Amino acid sequence: MDHFTYKSGILHAEDVPLPRIAESVGTPFYVYSSATLEHHYRVITEAFTGQDAHVCFATKTNGNKAVLTLLGRLGAGADVVSVGEMRHAIAAGIPAKRVVFSGVGKTRDELTAALSLGIAQINVESEPELRALSEFASAMGTLAPVALRINPDVTADTHDKISTGRKENKFGIDWATAPALFRLANTLPGIDLKGVAVHIGSQILDLAPFRAAFLRLRELVLSLRGEGIALKRVDLGGGLGVPYHRDDPSSPAPSAYAALAKECFGDLGVTLILEPGRLIAGNAGLLVSRVVYVKEGAARKFLILDAGFNDLVRPAMYDAYHEILPVEQPAPDAPYEPLDVVGPICETGDLFARQRPLPPLAPDALVAFATAGAYGAAMSSTYNGRPLVPEVLVKGNRFDVVRRRPTLAEMTALESVPEWLK
Ligand SMILES: *Cc1c(COP(=O)(O)O)cnc(C)c1O
Repeated sequence: MDHFTYKSGILHAEDVPLPRIAESVGTPFYVYSSATLEHHYRVITEAFTGQDAHVCFATKTNGNKAVLTLLGRLGAGADVVSVGEMRHAIAAGIPAKRVVFSGVGKTRDELTAALSLGIAQINVESEPELRALSEFASAMGTLAPVALRINPDVTADTHDKISTGRKENKFGIDWATAPALFRLANTLPGIDLKGVAVHIGSQILDLAPFRAAFLRLRELVLSLRGEGIALKRVDLGGGLGVPYHRDDPSSPAPSAYAALAKECFGDLGVTLILEPGRLIAGNAGLLVSRVVYVKEGAARKFLILDAGFNDLVRPAMYDAYHEILPVEQPAPDAPYEPLDVVGPICETGDLFARQRPLPPLAPDALVAFATAGAYGAAMSSTYNGRPLVPEVLVKGNRFDVVRRRPTLAEMTALESVPEWLK
């Protein structure tokens, strides 16, 4: 469900026609629908009504300050993976008490910052990290609220680069050695052992791997309880997939996911933490781009856009599919022909779609990549000397630039030429 629809033949974000935004900020740009963000946040929280569950939005999917402020106002916490994200989320108004910190390589500076800021939970991913945290917290005379992230060794049927819960992945504590580490955590100074965490991957379209992981967690919580180690929190991570094809309803319903959580943990009296990212932000954003040229190659016809893989890397990085919508609605009888949709970057991999059937599109026409609200702007770069594109937030019939396009001077302001070259 999103709020990007054709009205009078023009694609709108809520009540704003996209060409109006293009005129104001130039292309390419990202546009987010506040109504869609709010809707998705409510869908997941309402699915867990009656369970003691807290939603911590995975800010790595979309860290725009306005987006974080909006979700924070609705009651969301944040799942962060660096001290930068942590400070940014707190600056956006998300209370530290609702922030959880994940990641395999948290540095000393990051862990001590987390302790000083008083965040809710640090998800520890290895024994060396646990020992380091114990040392830092003891030295600071404080207690670190810890969950141990375990690797449940389940295979989620998703792209290799976003699968995280198999034993050959770098994430989490090996399932077999986890109980020993819980015992250690329970005795180390400076550690306040709160719970257990998992995150098995992203864009998971089937509940089976979640079930397998949750049952392992349940088993672990019960067996530790038998030893007198009472875990109060279970952090289920994120990973719920979203539909990238409009007519494809195959992604699991949040209600079914919530029912599964209840089945696995409902009788344990634990607090659940959820870390959805894509589920909330994915379908709440579009990347809007302009056609620069239509080029007839020897073997293919190319649609050359002003957006490149530096702006949206998912197709190049994960072979991801994004629907490409002409902003001007095609006539019902428009002839479609297969085009290779590419950007201007000097790399063959700068390819958004191969042989995508599209209606006639002339230079200057606008197109929109759907489902670009998560891992879109957040993963963009300035490769090829291209400025990060503006981000716009729509609410009803108003739109606001929530990140402006930097000038070339701003982009290069941190660079300097040594004296000896002058
Ligand atoms: C990336 C990540 C998430 C969010 O994953 P989604 O698939 O976007 O829901 C949640 N938790 C952790 C630890 C992550 O690394």
